[in-house]
Amino acid sequence: MFDVRGKSVIVTGGASGIGQAYAEIMAEHGAKVCIFDLNPAGLEQTVTAIRAAGGDVWGQVVNVGDRAAMAAAFDKVAEKAGSIDVVFANAGIDAGPGFNTPTGERNPEGAIENLPDAHWDKVIEINLTSVYTTIKHAVRHMKPNGGGQIIVTSSIASLINESIVGTPYMPAKAAVNHLVRHMAMELGAYNIRINAILPGPFITNIAGGRLRNPADRKAFEAQSLLGRIGDPEEIKGLALYLASPAASYVTGSLIVIDGGSLLR
Ligand code: NAD
Repeated sequence: MFDVRGKSVIVTGGASGIGQAYAEIMAEHGAKVCIFDLNPAGLEQTVTAIRAAGGDVWGQVVNVGDRAAMAAAFDKVAEKAGSIDVVFANAGIDAGPGFNTPTGERNPEGAIENLPDAHWDKVIEINLTSVYTTIKHAVRHMKPNGGGQIIVTSSIASLINESIVGTPYMPAKAAVNHLVRHMAMELGAYNIRINAILPGPFITNIAGGRLRNPADRKAFEAQSLLGRIGDPEEIKGLALYLASPAASYVTGSLIVIDGGSLLR
């Protein structure tokens, strides 16, 4: 039921954090995984670790914001693996370097009149436009093969105010939710399922690793009904479920995984 053996899987932003967890669980269950990431050193480290655990994985250094590079990277995977069956559109950025204010401050950019337009453009490019690009190329390869699964990493910040991630991040993720539901309507007829995972706070390198900082963590821990931040290990089960035949009747869904944080 949870069988993904032999499936050809792409994970964008899979060299770290949540994407790395997706890549690990797919490889552990016998899928052939290709990771796209901007960070060559992180990519090599992750690929080496998954291979050491017996996984079938390789990587391509790709900027998800580069449309031509994305088209070529998808074609390379299809050529090598024979198909593209599961795609995780996961790469994402937040406020970014230069915007992470000292510990304790929630809004990294301050007032909107101080928000550089270039920062707005960059976050929209990576967190929204690149999801469109990823879906487009996934569908281009899945349609002729009779179907596939697309899983997009959104965020609970698409539903509530989480100012630590910065002003453009929240509307980008909200738009991603709507794109997923709209695409589900278009793609159902082609046996392509598309769903979004909406994580609450997970300990990763995002926000400059601020969630590793005890002072920054406090507010998020208090918000969770379980009294702690999530570990990327804890997202693996949901990723495997959505990628596998176990979720064969699930499409257009926005699935929250947040330790109950939204309820506070
Ligand atoms: P992370 O920083 O640990 O991992 C992100 C990965 O994406 C990195 O390996 C990075 O090199 C890669 N990346 C960034 N820009 C890229 C680009 N232009 N092209 C290719 N690769 C790129 O962060 P994470 O927390 O694992 O983030 C993964 C996803 O989860 C993001 O979409 C993020 O918005 C979402 N998310 C994270 C949290 C959280 O608390 N960690 C909560 C909600 C949603």
